[in-house]
Amino acid sequence: MIVILKKIPNEAQLASLMDWLAEKNIDVHKSIGTSTTILGLVGDTAAIDADLISALDIVEDVKRVQEPYKHANRKFHPDDTVINVRGAQIGGGTLTLMAGPCSVESEEQIVAIAKQVKASGATVLRGGAFKPRTSPYSFQGMGTRGLELLKIAREETGLPIVTEIMDAEQLPDFADVDIIQVGARNMQNFDLLKRLGRQEKPILLKRGMCATYEEWLMSAEYVMAGGNHNVMLCERGIRTFETYTRNTLDIGAVPVLRKLTHLPIIIDPSHAAGKAWLVPQTAPAAVAAGADGLIIEVHNDPAHAVCDGPQSIRPETFDALSKHLHALHDFMAENPVPTV
Ligand code: PEP
Ligand code: MN
Repeated sequence: MIVILKKIPNEAQLASLMDWLAEKNIDVHKSIGTSTTILGLVGDTAAIDADLISALDIVEDVKRVQEPYKHANRKFHPDDTVINVRGAQIGGGTLTLMAGPCSVESEEQIVAIAKQVKASGATVLRGGAFKPRTSPYSFQGMGTRGLELLKIAREETGLPIVTEIMDAEQLPDFADVDIIQVGARNMQNFDLLKRLGRQEKPILLKRGMCATYEEWLMSAEYVMAGGNHNVMLCERGIRTFETYTRNTLDIGAVPVLRKLTHLPIIIDPSHAAGKAWLVPQTAPAAVAAGADGLIIEVHNDPAHAVCDGPQSIRPETFDALSKHLHALHDFMAENPVPTV
């Protein structure tokens, strides 16, 4: 249920409404927007008499929220969520490029790529230290040493780092990471999501390869219900009958999520395409559709990458692509898509 308040509500009446809701064990999320203030009510709202609240002087309107996701719902929070990470702003009309190798391989590799992608306009460095591989015999990542190397690359460049967590037990090791990535395979690891909700670091929540929008938003809800509202949603391709590409990039996710949620939307064209040449061909679609950012795999020697070399673009390609994406973003800001 959402309660839309009148422009300048009487403080005492608002406080007594809040107390009344607290007595009924209703959790209230207050969203102060540019034009209105909204109270988002979470809990057993079926037992709340909407007419009683509507009748209050300070209340403009009361609406029931049908969707099972509440905190993630745009109805709860009409303005876009903007996440700040070490000075980098994600969401709210900006275009964020996150770039780096699939996996951290050595200090030289991660520092060199970090410097290159930064010079090309990336504002977040990606790199996996713990890798969820299909085969137990494949490279599993450098582990905690990989996290240390990411921090060295951050020191050298000032770029905040995003890296994947696989298990809640790893959380102490992630204390100094800037954005924690939850991979597609862990999107419904509910215990992990609950733990991530009880800490403050921003979460990059990738879409499970067979997950619907609602299932994905419910996973975001798990994190947000714990108190952490800094969640970004990352579309990375879904599994379909097509085998030419690694996954099928669902561009429709961008406008749909824009409508359903206020959370920033990031596109990963690398894991969708599975092929380096296809990355610059599909990435602009994300910007044209209105995504808040992209996460792109970049490697300085893709042929010898320990993981995901075939889909990794070279720094020179990233440089040209970044310029194109920023120019397209500026063009789209000046030429908004007509709405129906
Ligand atoms: C990755 O980002 O390297 C990764 C494993 O992504 P996903 O979880 O989308 O497969
Ligand atoms: Mn990868």
